[in-house]
Amino acid sequence: MAGKNQEFVTHIADINVDFPQWYTDVILKAEMVDYGPVKGTMVIGPYGYEIWELIQEELNDRIKATGHRNAYFPLFIPESFLKKEAEHVEGFAPEVAYVTKAGGEVLAEPLVVRPTSETIICSMYSKWIQSYRDLPMLINQWCNVVRWEKSTRPFLRTSEFLWQEGHTVHETAEQAQEETLKMLEVYREFSENVLAIPMSTGRKTDKEKFAGAVATYSIEALMQDGKALQAGTSHNLGQHFTKVFDITFQSREGRQEYGWQTSWGVTTRLIGALVMVHGDQRGLVLPPKIAPIEIVILPIAAHKPGVTDVCLKVRDELKAADIRVYLDDRDTVSAGWKFNEWELKGVPMRLEIGPRDIENGVATALRRDTLEKFTLPLEGIAAASQAKLDEIQRALYEKAMRYRDAHTFDATNFDELVKGLDESRGYVRAMWCGDRACEDAVKERTSATARCMPFKQETIADTCVCCGKPAKHLVFWAKAY
Ligand SMILES: [Zn+2]
Repeated sequence: MAGKNQEFVTHIADINVDFPQWYTDVILKAEMVDYGPVKGTMVIGPYGYEIWELIQEELNDRIKATGHRNAYFPLFIPESFLKKEAEHVEGFAPEVAYVTKAGGEVLAEPLVVRPTSETIICSMYSKWIQSYRDLPMLINQWCNVVRWEKSTRPFLRTSEFLWQEGHTVHETAEQAQEETLKMLEVYREFSENVLAIPMSTGRKTDKEKFAGAVATYSIEALMQDGKALQAGTSHNLGQHFTKVFDITFQSREGRQEYGWQTSWGVTTRLIGALVMVHGDQRGLVLPPKIAPIEIVILPIAAHKPGVTDVCLKVRDELKAADIRVYLDDRDTVSAGWKFNEWELKGVPMRLEIGPRDIENGVATALRRDTLEKFTLPLEGIAAASQAKLDEIQRALYEKAMRYRDAHTFDATNFDELVKGLDESRGYVRAMWCGDRACEDAVKERTSATARCMPFKQETIADTCVCCGKPAKHLVFWAKAY
């Protein structure tokens, strides 16, 4: 069995040498995902999907608590819908998959496989919304979308992925803006408190905004290779779509007015972020709140009298305390094999219980995040375990925060910007004049993009980092996924 134990570790690429390969090794070996038969598609395995289900549960609570309801709209969209909003079609056209033939016949009008659902939802809203009494319209849907991407990587960029998309219509521009920021805040709070990932929040530049939006806001996270990942977006769509889809309502004053719209979404990308923010050389490190198994119990010398009974008792106590627990009583693999497997899968804490532990009235525990070993008294083990899980959750967030802070640099001229992006890796904070040409120049020289203009604007220089003209915005620049 010793040979097998070794395999687990040695087949994961060195996280410090080849981060992309490390990522691929971890997600495949932890059985979160596999490649689908069609290039660019992924099969989400049970372990990955369980994480997605927890994300759904947590987000659904928040989406519903803010007044939204879930619904479902069709996968197929008439091509003409997409063409109605010029910027929207231009933005999505290169990635759209079409159905041109079905039922053995060529279709009179090609159908688009939804890359996002603004258009089809708007077509329904124009029927459903008549009066200010119908507003605000607050609907969310959980579904898959298809974007035919050229280069793909499981969870981060795939031709088909899962997400939620909220679509709302309001009476006034102010209400739409308030909704846009409210949902961004929901995402930030969720990401920080559940995923233990610190987020930078702010507005996107026009170049980076959603095709058809007035303004896009995002939550951005920093991965352990110094690259940023856009983890969620919230768009103020203004009246762009409501005008082309004729979503009008009778206002309180009796006038016909166009509605003000928002949309917002997060995707299975979040799972990729979890892996890249918290993982280590042994594999995944999952924050307890999002771990399908928070605690795994490993019986040691299970054939000895009492061991199984105590393990079952501890399992039931943890379960009763709402801790997601798994008793690994397989006798087909060694204890060492199990240690490696659960470490690879990022289970936040394991409890070993053997004859000596029972004699001492304790379980031997190991924290996945620090690999620290300690004992917990069997008496009151549920409360003590929960306290440890809470500690792990906090520690992971703080560690990620320290990493982000240590990888955020200020630049006041172009050389510093390039140096920060190329050598130091991470976010570079620098001033920008607001011209697209400067944004393009930064991208050309460094491949980095403007991640966001943070809400908390500061003036770290008077001039644009690129052209030297007066600066208008502080921007977080980074290479990104
Ligand atoms: Zn400039």
